[in-house]
Amino acid sequence: VFLRHCAADDGAMPPIYKDPGRPVEERVEDLLARMTLAEKIGQMTQIERLVADPSVIQNYFIGSILSGGGSAPAPNASPSAWADMVDGFQTAALSTRLGIPIIYGIDAVHGHNNVYGATIFPHNVGLGATRDPNLVQRIGAATALEVRATGIPYAFAPCIAVCRDPRWGRCYESYSEDPELVQQMTQIVFGLQGTPPEGYPKGAPYVGGGSNVVACAKHYVGDGGTTGGIDESNTVATFNELRRIHLPPYYNAIAAGVATIMVSYSSWNGVKMSANKFLISTMLKQRLGFQGFTISDWEALDRITSPPDANYNYSVNVAINAGLDMVMVPMNYQGFINLMTAQVNAGQISQDRIDDAVRRILRVKFLAGLFEKPMADRSLLQMVGSEEHRNLAREAVRKSLVLLKNGKDSTNPMLPLSKNAPKILVAGAHANDIGLQCGGWTITWQGSRGNTTVGTTILEGIKNAVSPTTQVDYLVSPDSGNAANGGYSYAVVVVGEPTYTEMFGDNDNLTIPQDGINLIQNVCSVVECAVILISGRPLVVEPHLPLMSAFVAAWLPGSGGQGVADVLFGDYDFQGKSPRTWFKNVNQLPMNIGDQSYDPLFPYNFGLTTGVGKTG
Ligand code: BGC
Repeated sequence: VFLRHCAADDGAMPPIYKDPGRPVEERVEDLLARMTLAEKIGQMTQIERLVADPSVIQNYFIGSILSGGGSAPAPNASPSAWADMVDGFQTAALSTRLGIPIIYGIDAVHGHNNVYGATIFPHNVGLGATRDPNLVQRIGAATALEVRATGIPYAFAPCIAVCRDPRWGRCYESYSEDPELVQQMTQIVFGLQGTPPEGYPKGAPYVGGGSNVVACAKHYVGDGGTTGGIDESNTVATFNELRRIHLPPYYNAIAAGVATIMVSYSSWNGVKMSANKFLISTMLKQRLGFQGFTISDWEALDRITSPPDANYNYSVNVAINAGLDMVMVPMNYQGFINLMTAQVNAGQISQDRIDDAVRRILRVKFLAGLFEKPMADRSLLQMVGSEEHRNLAREAVRKSLVLLKNGKDSTNPMLPLSKNAPKILVAGAHANDIGLQCGGWTITWQGSRGNTTVGTTILEGIKNAVSPTTQVDYLVSPDSGNAANGGYSYAVVVVGEPTYTEMFGDNDNLTIPQDGINLIQNVCSVVECAVILISGRPLVVEPHLPLMSAFVAAWLPGSGGQGVADVLFGDYDFQGKSPRTWFKNVNQLPMNIGDQSYDPLFPYNFGLTTGVGKTG
C-alpha cells in the first residue's frame, strides 16, 4: 500500500495553481474551477484578527484578516511576536482543502505605525510639503520592508484623498488639497509594491517580491470632498468636478500597478460609494481597466442605510453588485456569509460576479507570492526601526518643515538659531512627546500622548544639536516670569493638536488648543521665540503671529525629531512648501488653490528659506 501510494504521488502532476512556473492567469482559472461556493465567499470575507481563530479560518475558508486600528497580538508586541501571530493564522489557512493562503492587512500609513519600535515617518500632509516624490517612494519601500518583516503582505496605504477642507479629521492623511501634487505622490506605490518592468500591462496589478507589499489606494472616491469636512459624509460634486479633483490620483495609482483599492465610506451626491455601481464597476474596472481587487471599508456594508427600508440583505446585494470584491469586517461575518450564499443561490448575485471578485483576489495573492512564500521572512526583522530607515525618516522631517515666518521684520531673520547660545528655553508638552509628534494611527488607532514608541523628540534633537556648553532648560508650561527671568538667549516654543484619527479629528474652529495659546503669550511676549506647530493641518494662527519671531509648520513629523533640529540650526535649509492653503479664519473654508476668491494668510506653496545650510 505504501509503495503504491508513493508511486501514485510520484506520477501525479501538481495542480496547475500550485505551479509557480505557470502564468498567473492560468493558475487563477485552475484554482477558481476547483472552488466551491463556500470557498469563494470565504475569499471575499476579511475579518478582524480578534475574532479569527484557526477553526473560524478553516470552517469559513476566510480569505483575509486584518488588524483594525492596529489591534496587536499584545501591547507593545515585538516585531517577531507579530510575525508569529500572522504565521499562526496562515498555518490554519494552509491546512484547508485547497490551501489558499490568507492575505493579512494592516494600516501602515506612516511607516509600520502599529508596531512598537518601527520607524514612524511623517504623515502624508508633511510628505506633501516635501514636494519630493522620490523620497516618498523610498519611504514606501522602507515601510514595505518593515511590514513584510512582520509577516504582513498587505498595507492599507496610500491614502490618496484630496482633502479640500481642513476641518476634516483625516486631512493629515492627504498629501495636499491639490490633485496634481497628490498624483505625484502616488509614486509611493512603486516603493510599496516595487516598480513594474518596462512594458508591464497598464491597469494590471504588480507586486515585486518578498520585500514588497500589496498596496491599497484609498478611499475611492471623493473622501476628501465632503461638505464641511465631515468624515464619512456626503460629497456634493458634478461628475466633472469629481474627474477634475478627486479621480486623478487614481489614474496614477492604477498606472503604477496598485493592486487594491478601498471604496470610501462617504457618499457622492447622496449615494453611498459602496453602493455605486457606476463608479466601481463602470468607471474603475471597465473604463480605467483596474484588474486588482476592490475592498470595502470597515463595516461599510453595515452603514448603507438608505433607502430608509434598507436592511442588511439589501446592503450586501447592492454593494456586491456594485462591484465590491472583498468585504472588510462585515459586522457579523457568519450572517454575511449566509446572506451571500442565499443570494447567490437565489440568483440575486450572479455566479459571474462572484467569480470576478474571487479571480481578482486570487490574482493579487498569486502576484504577491503568497502561494510560494506564505510565511514571514524573519531575515527582514532586523530592518524594523533600522538606522537606515531612521535616517530616511529624519531626512523626510527636515524636508517637510515649512518656514512661514522668519524675523519680526524681513531684515532681522531669527533662523537659523545659534548653536552656541549660553542658555535657551524649550517649552511645551509637544516638544518632548513622541506620541504627540506622531499623531493618530500610531501604536493605537487614535494615537496617544506619551512615550508610546521609539524615536527622537524635538527636545532631544535640539539637545543633540547645540554646543556642549549651551544650557537647555525644558519647561512644559512656563509662566511669563519663568520665561522673562531665565536669562534665555531665545526660546523654542512647541505647540499643537492632540492626537486624533478619523471622525474624532473633525473640528469646526481649528484654533490652537488653549494651552498652546497660553504658552505663546507667556513666553513670546518676553523672550524672542520660534514657534513650532505640530498639527495635521493649518490652524488659525494669524492673531498670534505678531508675538512670534519665527513660525514653522512641522505637521506630524513622526519619530525623526532630529530632523527638526537639522533645519532650526541651519545644518540644512528649509525646503518645505505648504501643501495646503493657510487660511486666516475658518469662515473662509473651504478655500483651495485655484478658487476665485482666494485671500489666504499664506498661499498654497508658500515656504521661506534662510539661505543657510545644505539642501537635499
Ligand atoms: C478606515 C480605513 C482603514 C480601515 C482599517 C477604517 O475605519 O477608514 O482607512 O484602512 O479602517 O483599519
